[in-house]
Amino acid sequence: MKLFEILQNTPEDSQLITDSIVITHAKLKRYDKILCSISGGSDSDILIDLCQKFDESSKITYAFFDTGLEFQATKEHLQYLEQKYDVHIEHVKAIKSIPFCCKTYGQPFLSKQVSEWIERLQRHHFQWEDETFDELYKKYPKCKAALRWWCNDFKKSSDGKESSFNIAYNQYLKEFMIKNPPDFKISNKCCHYAKKMSANKFKTNGRFDLNIYGVRKAEGGARRTAYKTCFSSSEDKCDEYRPIFWYLKETKKIYEKYYNIEHSRCYSEYGLKRTGCAGCPYGKNFEEELIAMRQYEPKLFKAVNVVFYDSYEYTRAYRKFVNEQKKISGR
Ligand code: SF4
Repeated sequence: MKLFEILQNTPEDSQLITDSIVITHAKLKRYDKILCSISGGSDSDILIDLCQKFDESSKITYAFFDTGLEFQATKEHLQYLEQKYDVHIEHVKAIKSIPFCCKTYGQPFLSKQVSEWIERLQRHHFQWEDETFDELYKKYPKCKAALRWWCNDFKKSSDGKESSFNIAYNQYLKEFMIKNPPDFKISNKCCHYAKKMSANKFKTNGRFDLNIYGVRKAEGGARRTAYKTCFSSSEDKCDEYRPIFWYLKETKKIYEKYYNIEHSRCYSEYGLKRTGCAGCPYGKNFEEELIAMRQYEPKLFKAVNVVFYDSYEYTRAYRKFVNEQKKISGR
C-alpha cells in the first residue's frame, strides 16, 4: 500500500501513530537490509503490524531470539503472526541459553546492576563485611567499583536522592546481605549471552543496515532511558530504529483497537501485564507470574523453579526482611 493510502485510514486522535507510520515508511524506503526483532510481546505485535503496512516490508528479516526459557503461548503467537502477515519469523537460538548461564555463571538477583556488583564481589571471595571502603579496599584491592557500591561511596543527588550506584538504593539490602550472605552464585550473564550476544552475533558481518525493535520510552528502565530518540546511528554500520519509542500506554490502546491487534495468550488468558523471559527474578511481579505459570504452563513453571530456585528464595527472604525492618522503623 502507498503511504497516502495508509494515512487516509489512521486513528484521528493520535498524532504519535501517524508520525510513526510516516517515519517507518521513510526508514523502510531508505534501508535495504533490515532486521526487525519480534519478541511475541504486545509491543512487538504493534511493531510488526506497523512494518507490514508497507510494500517495502519485504526487505525485512523478522527474528525471534529464543532464550531457552519461553512461554509456549509466545511460540504459538509467533506462528499466528506468521500466518496473519504471511511472513517468516526466524528463530535464533541463544549462544548460551538462560538455564545454561544460570547453572554455569550464577542466577540473576534483583536487577542487572545489583547482580553485576555481587558477581564481582563473589569473584573476589568477599566476606560481606561491614567495614569502611579504605579497610575493604586493602583486603580486596582488585574490586574497587563493587566495593564503592557496597560502601555507598557515591554521592546522593542534589535533591537528596540515593545514587543507583550505591547499595542503599535498594532499601535494607546491605543489612540483609550482612545477615544473610548469599550461598549461591549470582550473575547477570544470562542477559549477556542469551540476549545481547545472540542478537549481536546475528547482526554481524554487515548482514543488516537497520535494526528495528520495540522499545518504548514510557516503559522506563535502564535500557529505555539510555535512548534519547527513536533513531540512532551505530558505529558497526547497523543503525537502530525504535518506531514506537514515543508511544504511551494510551497510544498502544488506540492502535490496538483501531487496527485489531491480538496479543498472545500470555495477556488475554494468563492475565500477564508484560512478557519477557519467563519467570525472570528481576520482575517485581514474578510471584504473580509464577501463579499464572503454574496454572497455564506447568512444565515451564517446573523449569523456572529449578533454574531460578536460589534467587527466588533469596528474593523472598529479602522482601520479608524489608517488610520487617519497615515495621520496626515505623516507615
Ligand atoms: S531478563 Fe532476566 S532471565 Fe532474561 S536474560 Fe536477563 S536476567 Fe536472564
